[in-house]
This record gives sequence, structure tokens and C-alpha cells, in this order.
Amino acid sequence: MNIEERFLKYISYNTQCDEHSSTVPSTSNQLVFARELVKEMKELNISNVELSKEGVIYGTIKGNGGKQDIIGFIAHMDTSPDASGENIKPQIIRNYDGNAIKLNQELSLNPQEFPKLKKLVGHDLITTDGTTLLGADDKAGIAIIMSMAQYLSNHPEIKHNDIQIAFTPDEEIGRGSDHFDVDRFHSQYAYTIDGDEIDVYNYENFNAYSAQVKIKGKSIHPGSAKGKMINASRVAIKFDQLLSEFMRPEYTEKYEGFNHLHHIEGQCEYCQMDYIIRNHDKKILDQQIKQFNRAKDFLNEQYGYHCIDVQFTESYLNMADIVLQHPKIIERLKNAMEKCGIEAQAQPIRGGTDGALLTYKNLPCPNIGTGGGNFHGPFEYVSLTSMKKGVQLLIELVRE
Ligand SMILES: [Zn+2]
Repeated sequence: MNIEERFLKYISYNTQCDEHSSTVPSTSNQLVFARELVKEMKELNISNVELSKEGVIYGTIKGNGGKQDIIGFIAHMDTSPDASGENIKPQIIRNYDGNAIKLNQELSLNPQEFPKLKKLVGHDLITTDGTTLLGADDKAGIAIIMSMAQYLSNHPEIKHNDIQIAFTPDEEIGRGSDHFDVDRFHSQYAYTIDGDEIDVYNYENFNAYSAQVKIKGKSIHPGSAKGKMINASRVAIKFDQLLSEFMRPEYTEKYEGFNHLHHIEGQCEYCQMDYIIRNHDKKILDQQIKQFNRAKDFLNEQYGYHCIDVQFTESYLNMADIVLQHPKIIERLKNAMEKCGIEAQAQPIRGGTDGALLTYKNLPCPNIGTGGGNFHGPFEYVSLTSMKKGVQLLIELVRE
């Protein structure tokens, strides 16, 4: 199987995950795909192949004399709950000419709207037919890793150390690392193969907290409320206005953090607000948290009783704080990219990754792109040309 056939086969499996499910993995069709991958891994002579009961696949490509640090490659099997992954009908565009690509009667992939396509002129692309997502996120990652395994198995003259491989379920709903057995994986560090363009790598992500703001008002019949009523919903509005206006997602980009009010529900008696708080810089994030507390204290004092409570929960932390303590992880990647003629670009992630959670479980884990774009919807595409480059990159990474 070549990488194109492999990718087309993988996306024929619907592996959509489900955030409302409490089973592990969240959907059983991920296991159907996992069993197929296990079979294929064994055919490629990958050792110690195991599918855990939580749906994580592990395997080892045995070393043949290499002495470099043992590394791992990780990709996820699930696709996003945001769009259907059922009955995907891929379209293949050979030698892309840079014009708009018609997906169906209504939808087109237009480089005016998606300027990253302009960099892919001359590439072979795969798109959807506009009715589903494509599933390049992250079956492109799996196809790249499996194609590397096949290449190494056919080319024993390439010396390398042991290479660990894992495929995880439920990444899109943030559960991909929940049941990941870092001890079982025994590699010194790893790379997730997921996300954007092939020349992009990521080792910085947000520090992420959530804040739940609970406000108790004093509800009294509005006809006789004078001097007595405290409307919890109005207190909520005041609270939100005490936070920096320009620290909202709609005003921020790159390394700018934000406070995002994503849910508010309330009446006169009681109001609750849910925020997420994000920043790459932990010190600034601590200041953001301080601002929440100052707003709370100020209003509690103004109303003369304890009407506001704020509870903070840590979601994940920036992997950079750990990864940068081991400069060889990024050095090794940059060297391999250079050997492949890829101009490496580090990009901060404005979100989290499974790799970030694994990094804090003692498996430092930056991310490498796959050549895909517009994930989680019908405009998703992937460049086969970039995926082939990805295979070459992984081989350079492990080559002695
Ligand atoms: Zn992904």
C-alpha cells in the first residue's frame, strides 16, 4: 500500500468521537478502526503491538543498531464531533493549479478565502465533496507514521534505535491522553504528528484555566424592591466589565492571552458565568487570575456582603516550560527538517494538545504538522505531496 491508498483506506472508517458519551473510548467505531490498524502493524513487523482496553494502540519498531535517544510518534484515530465523518467521498486533485476547487454545487475551496492553498500549487491534494469532514486530522498523521514503518521495514540499511508508536482515541474531546500509559510507551520523548502545514512545528501552547463565577443576589418583588433588591444578573454584567476589555478572544492573536466568557445563565436571585482563561505566559495568566479576584473583592465590598464566589480549575499547562529544558528535542527536529529541505517554522498553538498533557506526565511531546488544513469541517483538505515529505522527515528524525 502506498501512502495515498493507506490514507484513503483510513478515512473510509468513520471514527467520530462523542463528547456526550461516558464510555471509553467514547465511540465503539474507533475500536473497529483500531483493530484494523493493529492487523496492519503486525503485517509491517512492528513488535509488541497491543490494543489496550481503553482503545490506545502501542507498538515498537525494533532498533537495528542505532544509539540515539529512543523516541516515539503519536497520532489520534478519532475525528471531530463538529462534522460528520460518515461515508467520506474524497476528491483527488493532481498537480493543483491554484484556482478555486469546486467541492459540490454550493461549496468551493477558494484560495482567496483560504490563502494557505496558494502555497500548494503543484501539489496533489485531497478534498471532501462538501458534505463531511475529510479526516486528515488525524488520519494523515497515522498514514505518515505507518508509511515510515513500511519504509524502514523495506530498508534495513537505515540504522535506527527502537521507535515507539501509539495511536490514541478521543483526542478531539480532550481525552486522548487520559489512558495513555507513559511507562508502557518507554521512550525518552515523543512527537505528535497532527495538525497544520508540514514546515510547522509546535512546542508552545496555552496555559489554560477555567473560572466559574457564582453570584448570589437578593430577589424581592420588583414593586417593593427599592433599596433592597440586588439583581445577580446585573452584578454579573458589572463583574465582566471590570475585566480587561481587550483581553477577549475577538481582540487577540499570536501570543496574546484572553479571558473568554463562554456561558452565562441567571436571574435576579442567582447568576453563574463560566470563563476560560488562556495565556502562553504563566506570569501573565497569574495576573489575569488576580484580576478576577480583584473584581470579586471589589464588588463584594461594594454590595456589603459575600455575593460573589470564583473557583479556578487548571486544565493544562504550556509544554514549552518543560520542552525547553531539553533543547535536544527541538534541535533534533530542526536538523531533520533541514536535511529534508524544510524551512522550519515554530508556531505557538492557541489551544492545547494531547502532547501538552503528556509533557506534564513526563513525556515531553512537541507537535509536527501533516500537510492538512481547515480541519473539523467540509473545507478540510490535505496535501499528499506534504504527507510524503512528512514520511521523509520522520525517517530523517530516526536515522542514525
Ligand atoms: Zn488532530
